[in-house]
Parts: sequence; C-alpha cells; structure tokens
Amino acid sequence: MKKILFVTSEAHPLLKTGGLADVSGSLPKALAELSQDVRLIIPKYHALKTFNDVRFLCSLRVDNRQVDLLETQMPDSEVKVLLLDYPDFYGRPGNPYVDADGDSWPDNAERFALFCRIAVEVGMDRAGLDWQPDIIHCNDWQSGLVPALLSLEENPPPSVFTIHNMAYQGLFPAESIRGINLPGQLWHPDGVEFHQMLSFIKGGLVYADHITTVSPTYALEIQTPAFGYGLEGLLQHRKDDLTGIINGIDIDLWNPQDDPLIPQPYQAKTLAKKQSNKSELQQHFALPVDADVPLFGLIGRLVDQKGIDLIIDCLPEMMTMPLQFVLLGAGEKDYERRLQNIADLFADKMAVTVGYNEPLAHLIEAGADVFLMPSRFEPCGLNQMYSQRYGTLPIVRKTGGLADTVVDALPHTIADNTATGFVFNDASASSLLEAIKRTLMAYSDKKAWAKIQANAMKADFSWQYSAEQYLKLYRSL
Ligand code: ADP
Repeated sequence: MKKILFVTSEAHPLLKTGGLADVSGSLPKALAELSQDVRLIIPKYHALKTFNDVRFLCSLRVDNRQVDLLETQMPDSEVKVLLLDYPDFYGRPGNPYVDADGDSWPDNAERFALFCRIAVEVGMDRAGLDWQPDIIHCNDWQSGLVPALLSLEENPPPSVFTIHNMAYQGLFPAESIRGINLPGQLWHPDGVEFHQMLSFIKGGLVYADHITTVSPTYALEIQTPAFGYGLEGLLQHRKDDLTGIINGIDIDLWNPQDDPLIPQPYQAKTLAKKQSNKSELQQHFALPVDADVPLFGLIGRLVDQKGIDLIIDCLPEMMTMPLQFVLLGAGEKDYERRLQNIADLFADKMAVTVGYNEPLAHLIEAGADVFLMPSRFEPCGLNQMYSQRYGTLPIVRKTGGLADTVVDALPHTIADNTATGFVFNDASASSLLEAIKRTLMAYSDKKAWAKIQANAMKADFSWQYSAEQYLKLYRSL
C-alpha cells in the first residue's frame, strides 16, 4: 500500500472551477478503491463545501504565518481531506483565483506559495500528523512550488506533477519572489525563473521526479512550440520522465441507464428510447419536434481553446443543412453575443442557452444525436467521453485527449466495429464542415449509425484503468 499526498487547489464536489476538480474528485477515490492510503490537501476557500465532520488537527507556523490544518472526508469515500485554513488568503468570497471582474487576486503568488509550503510540511511529516507519504502528487501551477521546495530537503519522498492544462502557468513578476521568501537556489533560468518572471509551473516541470499529463497525445503535443508556451524545450529535455495518462469519467454520474436528470433512461439495447429525450430537448429549446432531423449539441466554455470561432464560421453554411443545433455554454462575451444573434436569425434550427446548467448538460447528452467538440487544443476533454456513453456521436478535432478517445468512422473502422465518432485534422472551418457533411451522410444510413452508437456506448472510460496507471507509476519511482 502506498501513502499518497494529493496536492490540488480544487476537487469536486468540495469546490470546482474546471476539469482539475473532476480529476481531483475521482482519482483519489479510485486509488482508495485500489486499497491505497490517499490524503488530499486543499485550501479552505470561502466557497468550499464540506460533506462530513470537520475537525481541527493542528496549527503550523510557516513564513511568519499561523495556519490551521483541519480534516474532513470526501463524501462516499475513505479519502481524507486536509483543509488549509488561513482566512486572510482563502476566506474571501468568490472564485479561488480571480476577483469579481475576472482579474487574478493580486496576492496569488503569496496565497499559493503558502499552500505549497504547507504541503511540503505535511509531505515531510513535520505537521505532527505522524503520517509520512511515500508519494507527493501535485497538480497544476498552484502546487508547482512543492517539487521545487522538496528538492531542497534531505531525503524527500518522490514527487509527481500532473499538467491538466499548459495554458495556465502561474506567472508572476520577479518582485514576488521577495514576498514569498523564495529560496535563492531556485531562482535561475534552469529553476523557476522564466524570462525574468516567477513561473510556478516550472517548479513542477523542472523538479518533479515524474511529470504526467492527461492524455498520451497531449504529452507529445506540449513538446512542440504550438502547445508548449515556450516550455517545449524543457519538456523535450524531460521526455523520459513525461507520460500521458488519460482521465476517466464518473460512470455513475454519467450513466444513461440510471440518470435522474434525463426524462427517459436507456441503454444500448433500448436505444430507441433515446428518442423521447430528443423530443424533450427539442421542446426545451422551442425547436420543431422532429425525430428524423439530426440534432447537434455542444456544451462547454465559450473560449478560443474550444474552437468556438470555427463553429461560428461554419454556421452560415450549417444553417442551410438539414440539421438542428443546441448550444449550452458561457465564456467570452463576444462569442456569447454572436452565437445568440445567429440563433435569433434561425430560431427554427438553432438555440443557445448562455450559462452553466448541469441538468441541461445531461439532457443535451441524452437528447442530441451528434456532439460538436472542435477544440484547438484539448489536454483530455470529458464531454466527448460522456457523449459516447450516451450514444451521441462526437465530432472532434484530432488533438490531445480527443485524438486518444474517439475512433474516426471510416469504412474499415465501421467494418471492424471500432468506430465511435468523427475526427478531423485542421483547425479550420472547412475541415470542420467536411466532418459535419460526413456525419450527415453516416446519419442517413440508419444501420451504420446504430452500429457506431453501439461501439461508442461499449467503450470503457472508467477511472479504474487510469488509477491503475498512476499506481504503476508511483511504484516505479
Ligand atoms: P474544460 O475542463 O476545458 O472546461 P472538459 O471537457 O474537460 O473541459 O470539462 C468540462 C466540464 O464542465 C464537463 O463536465 C462539462 O459538461 C462541464 N461544463 C462546461 N460548461 C458547462 C455549462 N455551461 N453547463 C454545464 N456544464 C458545463
């Protein structure tokens, strides 16, 4: 059995702003189910919800700050959660990273440096918990200084650093190194300095014993200039210590057979029942109820990463095709406005809901025929996996986790029952349009379509496989 300290700045259902929370909610649980002793450490944000008793563990003095460590438990699991309580830093209302205007909190370097220092105290068994982890597993930039600080300790446990998205790096002006008392040995271009800035993510990329990212394809992509944000050289240098492990999905929460958020449960054997969800979805969006017209869906953050501009460029032509399109998302105001305008013009073919709405996300997965996910980059992506489980065939760009989880419908993959969706290469509207046309052709062949749906619904995206990969990695260190 391994003792694993899992360092993360968010974890579903305690607190979620993005995909990191999904992984941090699921992976420790899956490891615990493989009989491992996992403890999570996370800042006690104002918005963080607890589901079990919270008890005081100890007070620590670090960097002239008095911090309390509390303990609770993840719901429905053995996983213990260490909460870092320091109200000046984490007790403010709102988002953990940004203020109400969307600007980073001005003291983020200090806030997450303190988080890292406390994680190191726990990791070195200096917090009086009488628990010495065998592995310290850090996630994204907020925990990046942990491997860096561990490198200055005597006999530290091995560390793993997981990149969930290279686009977020924790870059701060050089002056911040004084505010956080950064040990001088770490401040150089082969350390945490990045073009005279302090880079939290480099702390993980340079000093962790092993680096992982959330899909094998993304692990290769980030070693190239298009995806590496200037860190591709460092990642190439560390390529022997860099692996991609695909995320799982919560197969209980996303289960068409037993989903309380959809009107008509169904499974591969009873696929005809999916039809009721489609009518419900059409009614919800005030579109004509029509069983035969292919219904496209999209759920996601409306940002450049997700290829929303490609869709906007395609829409004039898409609106001439025999299809309907429903979209749920929020993000850049300009995208929201443009999508809404087009939907207003073609109200009998397209509808948009701006906002975050989990029940509606489930209804779209259950009711749509096709799911659009033309991301410019996608470290792993979840919706393409949910879609397959719901027999809603995804159209994806061949990048990151999308490339690793969707098998393009081609004559030979249809014949050998491996096809699960539609894949296109270039990040261009014309490539996407071609994939949409190919999808419409396939949809018109009811038998072939049903076969691809059956393949997609059979695919295994459970966490158990991924957790076993992580465990193998821990054992190898
Ligand atoms: P990312 O982490 O880049 O946003 P992922 O596909 O990995 O993308 O995960 C996004 C998660 O958030 C999915 O579970 C998706 O269903 C959910 N989601 C995104 N936008 C919305 C929304 N507007 N309403 C409901 N759920 C959403």
